[in-house]
Amino acid sequence: MARYGDSTRSVKAVGTQPIPGSPVASPPVPASTYHLSADEDPALDSYGRSSNPTWRQLESALAELEGAASALVFGSGMAAITAVLRVLARPGRKLVVPADGYYQVRQYAQEYLVPQGVTVVEATSAQMCELAADADVVLAETPTNPGLDVVDLHRLAMDCRSRGAVLVVDNTTATPLGQQPLSLGADLVVASATKTLSGHSDLIAGYVAGSHPDLMAAVERERLLAGPILGAFEAWLVLRSLGSAGLRFERQCQNAAALAMALRGHPRVRSVRYPGLPDDPSHAIASLQMRRFGGLIAVEFEDAAAVHRLVERSDLLIASTSFGGIHTSVDRRARWGDPVSPGFARISLGIEDADDLISDITAALG
Ligand SMILES: *Cc1c(COP(=O)(O)O)cnc(C)c1O
Repeated sequence: MARYGDSTRSVKAVGTQPIPGSPVASPPVPASTYHLSADEDPALDSYGRSSNPTWRQLESALAELEGAASALVFGSGMAAITAVLRVLARPGRKLVVPADGYYQVRQYAQEYLVPQGVTVVEATSAQMCELAADADVVLAETPTNPGLDVVDLHRLAMDCRSRGAVLVVDNTTATPLGQQPLSLGADLVVASATKTLSGHSDLIAGYVAGSHPDLMAAVERERLLAGPILGAFEAWLVLRSLGSAGLRFERQCQNAAALAMALRGHPRVRSVRYPGLPDDPSHAIASLQMRRFGGLIAVEFEDAAAVHRLVERSDLLIASTSFGGIHTSVDRRARWGDPVSPGFARISLGIEDADDLISDITAALG
């Protein structure tokens, strides 16, 4: 698989065995319970909270894309992340979480883990390596959502390894088609499949990927006991979408680069962050560890009203949270409490034609 390009890998990852007469695309298996054999055979499916054939198919596709030995799907990105944190961040341990990453991870750590006796340290991307020095568990996110700062994963992984800390990387914004944190030394990948991988703004899902059998077994045990599982239909929809992920992501990355270039230096724009811009502060590290720079750009407008005006005047932009869908969307992150200015907008590029987006958006900016 490694020799193939992203679209080939996406298509192959969701392929079925070429058995004559069997469907090319597998149907979902929405079962809660299964016929049992007389003897206890652990290889068989028995109950829907423990295992499901549609999960397994999706998990092997995700493992393939992440370069992992295995993957486990969950009912949301947060379900995947919090399952990993419950396994690793035990009372008395020190956990580092991103100060500039996905906000609900910080909220979970503060509201749930701190009262359990976990020491939680919030580190920005720039502080990650330094503050990870005496941690037991480090959760890094790169590029960060929403600021698009990049963490040097190889360096962080070396630091964590030399001190015996477990490194978990949230790969939601980059996707496995943009970067493979496990190959850079991370112990586990966590991600939301709600965003780019499923890509149609119609489901919530998440996953954990890794190659340490003991760690993955502990995460699977947590999923079995806590039960934050993915429905079979959602698993099937993610699989159905994954085959076109390479194609969609390639277009989204091209559109992001084109819009970043068009908005940079625009009189109504204060600043643009995109790791693919040659003069972006993150570009040097991003170029070393990312295969593509992603479909998100971070734009600083004058104030909240300027963002509202842009959406109102535009024919193509929609105002919605989340990202990675086929529509180009704008999210003014201050409304959710992210530590950004009122005019900061995260723009998620869809799969429209770049020329249409650029003329629509520049016309709407006036
Ligand atoms: C959206 C997101 C999550 C949470 O995923 P859900 O599927 O919404 O639970 C976690 N991390 C990042 C970086 C995200 O963007």
